[in-house]
Amino acid sequence: MTDIIDGDAVAAELRSDLRASIETLADAGVRPGLATVLMSDDPASETYVSMKQRDCEEVGIEGIHVEIDPDAPAEELYDTVADLNADPEVHGVLVQMPVPDHVDDREVVRAVDPQKDVDGFHPENVGRLVAGNPRFKPCTPHGVQKLLDAADVETEGADVTILGRSDIVGKPLANLLVQKTDLGNATVTLCHSRTEDLPAKTRDADVVVAAAGVPEMIDGSMLAEGAVVVDVGINRVEADTDKGYELVGDVEFDSAEEKASAITPVPGGVGPMTRAMLLYNTVAAASRQTGVDVELP
Ligand code: NDP
Repeated sequence: MTDIIDGDAVAAELRSDLRASIETLADAGVRPGLATVLMSDDPASETYVSMKQRDCEEVGIEGIHVEIDPDAPAEELYDTVADLNADPEVHGVLVQMPVPDHVDDREVVRAVDPQKDVDGFHPENVGRLVAGNPRFKPCTPHGVQKLLDAADVETEGADVTILGRSDIVGKPLANLLVQKTDLGNATVTLCHSRTEDLPAKTRDADVVVAAAGVPEMIDGSMLAEGAVVVDVGINRVEADTDKGYELVGDVEFDSAEEKASAITPVPGGVGPMTRAMLLYNTVAAASRQTGVDVELP
C-alpha cells in the first residue's frame, strides 16, 4: 500500500499548534503582524496574496496589505518596505513576486529587514541557512521537510534527488537536507536542466523531490521500488473543466504511485504546507522581535 501523504491534514495540525503559540503571544499583549505588498495586477499573484491574508486572519495574525500601482516608480515600493520595516506592529514583510520589470527584484529582497524576512530570501538569511544557523527557513523547503517528518521518512543517510535548483525551492531544500540536524543528514543530488541522465539519478534515490515546473515529467519508470516522492510542482494544464484548466504536479501520479512507498498529491501535498510555514515564520518573527518565548511546532 502506498502512503498518500496528506499535506492538508499535516498543515491543519500545524496551524492548530500555531494557534496555541499565538495565544501565548496574545497573553503577553503581542499580536503577530504580517504585511504583504503587491505590485502587480497578475491574477495569480492577487490570489496568492489574498490566500495569505485569509490564512493570517484564520489563525489570529494581523494581516496588513499594501497595493502599489505596477506602473509606479520602484522607489514607491522601497519606501513602502522601509515603512513596514520600521513599524513595530509588523513582524513579517513579504513582497509578492514577481515585481514589474522596471523594479530590480534582488534589490527588493535586500530591502526587507532580515529580521522580518519571513520568506527567508534576504542574502543574510540565505547565508545563515547555508551555514547551518537558519533564522527563517524558506516556506516551501521547510514545508517539505515537515511533510517528510510527519510521514516518518528518515532523511539521515538517505539518498535524496531534487529536481530543480531555484532559489526558492531546490537550492534551499538541498541546503536544509544536508545539514547535520535531525531532519537533515541526507546525501543530496541536485538536478537541473543541464543534468545528464536524470532517470539514473532519480532511480538511485530513496527520496525524489520534483520542483521543475514541468507537468508530469517524472513517471514511475524513473523511480526505484519503494521510493518516497514529493511533488512540489503546481502546473496549470488545459482541461475540460469549468475553469478550462486543472492543476497537475511534476509527477505523473498514477504510475509513480505504483512504485512509491509514499507520495504527495497535487493539490493537497506541498501547497498547504508552504502556506502554513509562512504563518510559522511570522509567529517566530513576532516572538523574536518582542522577546516573548513561544513553543513552535
Ligand atoms: P523555477 O522555474 O524557478 O525553477 C525550475 C527548475 O527546474 C530550474 O532549476 C530548472 O533548471 C529545472 N528544470 C526545468 N525544466 C527541467 C527539465 N526538463 N529537466 C531538468 N530540470 C528542469 O521554478 P520554481 O522552483 O519556482 O518552481 C518549480 C515548481 O514548483 C513550479 O511548478 C511551481 O509552480 C511550483 N511551486 C510550488 C510551490 C508550492 O507551494 N507547492 C511553491 C513554489 C513553487 P535550470 O536551473 O537549469 O533552468
